[in-house]
Amino acid sequence: MTEPADSLGILEFPDPRLRLRSAPVTEFDSALTGLTDRLLETLYATKSIGFSAPQIDHQQEVLVLDLSEDQSDPQIYVNPQIMSKGAWGIVEERCVSVPGLVGNVFRATRVRVRAQDQHGTAFERNLSGMHAVCLQHEMDHLAGKLLVDRVSIFKRLRIRARARAKAKMVEAESENHPVAAE
Ligand SMILES: [Zn+2]
Repeated sequence: MTEPADSLGILEFPDPRLRLRSAPVTEFDSALTGLTDRLLETLYATKSIGFSAPQIDHQQEVLVLDLSEDQSDPQIYVNPQIMSKGAWGIVEERCVSVPGLVGNVFRATRVRVRAQDQHGTAFERNLSGMHAVCLQHEMDHLAGKLLVDRVSIFKRLRIRARARAKAKMVEAESENHPVAAE
């Protein structure tokens, strides 16, 4: 079973913290490996293929990917930078932080990325297909950009209305079950 997003501390649209720009990582210490471990755990718990630090309220340039079927290819990207892009196409994307939205997005399906691993070692890699798309989606998170920004105005309005209705429901629930003050 996939765990619900709230119990994992995943921020959801329209939380303003998802709009913050992440800062580059300068310290490659145990706090960073703790963060990359937690990102991979969250990735697997939500059965996702990519996850970024800002989604769990860490505004740092860190993301993880694993597109394998059996959790055998965890990849960590710290301070990622796209060096080149090519082979553009329309791809369907989802995001754990924007539940219910399936968006068609125009993306490069071939990228060359430069990044560091959790120990600070720099590397460059060519990614293609879903790998390339997923990396760009997670890099959007580092820039405070969300899938909602890349879809049509109609979809955007619908997803905003849904988020508002959900917030109201949570409010109504807490009103129905007041916490005793005395
Ligand atoms: Zn996302």
